[in-house]
Amino acid sequence: MKITFILPAIGKKQGKKYIGTWKMEPLTVAVLKALTPWNVQTELFDDRIELIDYNTKTDLVCITVETYTAKRSYQIAARFRERGIPVVMGGYHATICPEETENYCDSVIVGNAEGVWRQMLADAGNRRLQKRYAGGIGTYSVRPDKSIFTGKKYLPVSLVETGRGCNHSCEFCSISRFYDSRYHARSHELIESDIKASPYKYFFLVDDNLVANRKNALELFRRIEPLKIKWAGQGTLSMAKDPELLRAMKKSGCEIILIGFESLDNANLKQMNKSFNYALGERDELVKRVHDAGIGIYATFVFGYDNDDEKTVEQALQFSKKHNFYTAAFNHLLPFPNTRLYDRLKEENRLIYDKWWLADGYNYGELSFVPKKISPEGLSKACRDARKEFSSFGTVMSRGFASLGRTSPLLWGLFWGMNLRIGGEVDQKMNVPIGENLDELPK
Ligand code: SF4
Repeated sequence: MKITFILPAIGKKQGKKYIGTWKMEPLTVAVLKALTPWNVQTELFDDRIELIDYNTKTDLVCITVETYTAKRSYQIAARFRERGIPVVMGGYHATICPEETENYCDSVIVGNAEGVWRQMLADAGNRRLQKRYAGGIGTYSVRPDKSIFTGKKYLPVSLVETGRGCNHSCEFCSISRFYDSRYHARSHELIESDIKASPYKYFFLVDDNLVANRKNALELFRRIEPLKIKWAGQGTLSMAKDPELLRAMKKSGCEIILIGFESLDNANLKQMNKSFNYALGERDELVKRVHDAGIGIYATFVFGYDNDDEKTVEQALQFSKKHNFYTAAFNHLLPFPNTRLYDRLKEENRLIYDKWWLADGYNYGELSFVPKKISPEGLSKACRDARKEFSSFGTVMSRGFASLGRTSPLLWGLFWGMNLRIGGEVDQKMNVPIGENLDELPK
C-alpha cells in the first residue's frame, strides 16, 4: 500500500512563481509518517514548493485542509478522485467544517488525526473507509519522522511541538474554538528527545501559547536550558510581568517571541474578548522588559474591529517603529468559520461572502466583511501601506541598528534578509486568487 500526503498552497497569480517567504517543514506530516506502519510506502507533495504529480501511483491521498487552502484542497482532491483514488481530509478546516469537507472527499478526520490514523489506514487497506473518524483533542506521543522531508527545501529550522490550544477565548480565534479554550502541554521528555534528534541548532517551538501554563512553561524552559539551542515561539505580552519566567525563557535560548498585540485600542480589545488590556504606558514598559531580557519581538496586529480606521493602523505602525520590533504583521481581520466573530458578523449582515474561502473572485488581502468606520478597500489598503512602510529600506535600517545586540549575531544577520524580502513581497502577495492557477512549475 502507498499513501500520498499533500500540503496545499493558498494560490498564486497566473504566470508568477509562488511567493517564497517562510517555508517551514510541515510538522503534522512527519507526525503522521511516524504513525504509519513500516510496510506502507509514503510520499509528500508540498504544493508550496513543488508540482503535484497527479499521475503518481498511489492507493490513498491524505490532504491537510486549512481554511485558506480549502478551495485548493478540494480542487486537488477532485483530480485524484477522477482516477478512482480515495481521498482523506483532516486539519483545522476539516474539523471545523466537516459537513462542507465531506462533500469533496471520501473520509474526514475530525480533531487530531494521531489517535485514529492507524485505524483509518487499516480501513483504507480493506477498502472500507468510514465517512468520518473522530480524532481526539490533545497531544501525541511519538517522535515525528522527518525522513519524509528528504530532498525538500525548507528553512534550516527544526519545528518541535510543545503544546496545543490556548486558555484564552478571543472572539476571532479558531484555535480557542478548536481546543475549547484549553491548553494541552506535550510531554517534556518527548520535547527534549525531539530537540536532541534534530541536526539543527535553531528551533521553532510550535505552540499556540507557550506561556499559557506558567508552571509547565518554567519546567520546560529549565529542562531545555542545558541543550544550548536557540529558539523562537509564541507567547503573550503578559509574560513580561513575570521576571522569573522571562529570565528562564531567555536562559533556555529564546531569541524571538511572537506576541499578538492585535490592537492598541482598549475598546477593540474588549470587543474581541482579548483578556489583556493595558493602561497607557504599561504596554511600552512591558515591551521594554522583553527587549531588556534580550528577546526580540515579532508583533502581530489585526484590524477591522468596530473602532478601527486608518488612524488605528497608523498608530500600530508608529508603535512598532518606536519599539524597533524584529518584525511585525499588519493583518486585516478574517472571519474564520465557526468562530464567534463569524456568527456575529453574519447576524449583523456584514459578511460580503458567506464562505469567502470558497468564493469565486475572493483574493488574498481583501476583506470579506464590511468594517464599521472604514470601507473594506480602505482597510485593505491601510494594512498594505503599513506593511510596506514597516519593511521599507529606511525603516529596516533603523530597526536593524537599534536592535543590534538584542539577539544573537546569527538572528541579527537573518533580520536583514528576512525583513527586506518581506518588503519586496508585500505587493506580490496582495490579490493572489485563492485556490486557482496553481499548476505551473514554481521557478
Ligand atoms: S491569545 Fe492568541 S491563541 Fe489564545 S485565544 Fe487569543 S488569539 Fe487565540
